[in-house]
Amino acid sequence: QEDIFKKVISHAKEYGYVFQSSEIYDGLSAVYDYAQNGVELKKNIREYWWQAMVQLNENIVGLDSAIFMHPTTWKASGHVDAFNDPLIDNKDSKKRYRADVLVEDYVAKIEAKIDKEVKKAAKRFGDSFDKKQFLKTNGRVVDYQTKANSILKRLGKSLQNEDLADVKALIEELEIACPLSGSRNWTEVKQFNLMFGTKLGASADSAMDLYLRPETAQGIFVNFLNVQKTGRMKIPFGIAQTGKAFRNEIVARQFIFRMREFEQMEMQFFIKPGTQQEWYEQWKEKRMKWHLSLGMGEDNYRFHDHEKLAHYADAAADIEFKFPFGFKELEGIHSRTDFDLSQHEEYSGKKLQYFDPEENKSYVPYVLETSIGLDRMFLAVFSNSLQEEELDNNTTRTVLKLPAVLAPTKAAILPLLKRDGLPEIAKKLVDDLKWDFNVAYDEKDAVGRRYRRQDANGTPFCITVDHQTVEDETVTIRHRDTMEQQRVKLTEVKSIIAKEVDM
Ligand code: ATP
Repeated sequence: QEDIFKKVISHAKEYGYVFQSSEIYDGLSAVYDYAQNGVELKKNIREYWWQAMVQLNENIVGLDSAIFMHPTTWKASGHVDAFNDPLIDNKDSKKRYRADVLVEDYVAKIEAKIDKEVKKAAKRFGDSFDKKQFLKTNGRVVDYQTKANSILKRLGKSLQNEDLADVKALIEELEIACPLSGSRNWTEVKQFNLMFGTKLGASADSAMDLYLRPETAQGIFVNFLNVQKTGRMKIPFGIAQTGKAFRNEIVARQFIFRMREFEQMEMQFFIKPGTQQEWYEQWKEKRMKWHLSLGMGEDNYRFHDHEKLAHYADAAADIEFKFPFGFKELEGIHSRTDFDLSQHEEYSGKKLQYFDPEENKSYVPYVLETSIGLDRMFLAVFSNSLQEEELDNNTTRTVLKLPAVLAPTKAAILPLLKRDGLPEIAKKLVDDLKWDFNVAYDEKDAVGRRYRRQDANGTPFCITVDHQTVEDETVTIRHRDTMEQQRVKLTEVKSIIAKEVDM
C-alpha cells in the first residue's frame, strides 16, 4: 500500500500534476503547487462541485468572501479558544506528535502486524488455513488490537474533555499494554492553536492582529443576512463558497491529504429550527450521490457517523474514501444548529435573524453544512485513477483513468506521420475543437508511444489522423480505458467527445 502511495506521488510530479512548493529551496513541508495538469484537474473538480451545488439548485447561491476577516470573527466562532490540537513531544527523539494521530498510527501498526502474521501462516498451512481459527489460537497480537482499540476509545473521550494528563497516561498505558517498539519518554500534552497569525497595518502601534481563515464557513455566516436580503432568499436556502483555508498542521504528511494551505468547498444551508434531522438525511444522501456520480466505485466510500459531537453540532457524519493508506475523511456533513449565527449575534451586537412570512415571526435559522477539501478530493480522484495494467503481450501500461469530465486534457490529436499533409489536417482539428475542450497536439515519436503518454496523462481520447483521412475525411478515435479504436467521420469527433466529457 505504501508502494502504491509512493507511485501516486511520483506520478503526480512526473506528469505535471503536483509539485512540492519552493522545491529549489528544498521545499516547504505540507505546502504544494499544482502544475499544468493539476491546475486543470483541480478547476474541473471545483466546477463539478459548483455546478451540482449552485447551478442546479435554485435556492443555493455563491459567495467569494475574503481570506482576511475581522479578528472578532474567530472569537465568536470558537476558533481562538478551541481550535487546538493536543501535542506531545518525545524527549529522546525530540519529535512532536499529535496525540490522537499517534494512537491511531499505533493501532494501524498493530493491524499491519496481524496482517503479516496471517499471511505468513496462510503460506505455511496452504489450503487447510483457517483464518478465524488461527486468530483464535494465536491471540497475542489480536489481543493487542482489542486493547489498543479500547484505549483509543477512552482517548477520544479524554481529548474531548480536554483531560490532557489523562491523554498522556493513556499513551503510556498503550505502550505498556501493546509493546511494539518499546515505550518512549514523553512530555506533558499541550494544546496548540492551528490558526496562522499575521498583522494588518504598517505601524507597530496601530497594527491589528489577524488570522488567516482556517475555514471558509465563517465568511458565509457573517454575510448571511446580506445575501438573504439582497438575493430575497427564502428559507430553506444555501450559500456556497470555494476558497483557500490555512491551518498550521503538525502532522503534515500524506502528501496533499493534509496541507497547511488548502482549498475548501463549503455550503451552509439555512433552515427552520426543528427541520434539521430531515435536511441532515437529505444532504447526506445528496452528497453521497454526487460522489458516486463520478463512477469511482461504490465500495470506495462509506459513511462514518460521529458518536461524539462537537459542542455546536447535533449530528455529524463524514463521507470516507478509501485512499491508498486506508479509509479516511473526505467530506463532513454537520448539523450545526443556530450555534454560529447566535455567536455572531452576541459578539457583533447585530441581529442575524430571518423573518419567516409563513410563520409571521423572526428567528435565527439552523444550519446544515457540507464541507469538502478540494485537494483531498483531488487526491481521491487521482489515486483511484492511477492503475497499472498487464496487457496481453506481457507488457504493462500505466494509465490514469480519470473520470472524463474531470480530465485536464479531453483529447490528443495525433498525425500518424509528420508529412503528407497529416499535420495540417490534425492542426485544423485542434483549432476546431479547442473552443470547446482542452486538447493537445502531439506529433513526436511513434504513435504507440504517444498513446501511452496520453494514457499516463489521463487523456480519455486520442484522435489519429492517417492517410485514409486524406481520402475519406475519417479518423480513428481511441478510448483510453478500453484501448478500443473506432473509425469515425471528422465531423462527428466533437459530438463524440462532448457526450463523454460534458458535465
Ligand atoms: P481532519 O480530521 O482530517 O483534520 P477536520 O475534521 O478538521 O479534518 P473539517 O474542519 O471538517 O476537517 O474540514 C472539512 C474538510 O476540509 C475535510 O473533510 C477535509 O476534506 C478538508 N481539510 C481539512 N483540513 C485539511 C488539510 N489540512 N488539508 C487538506 N484538506 C483539509
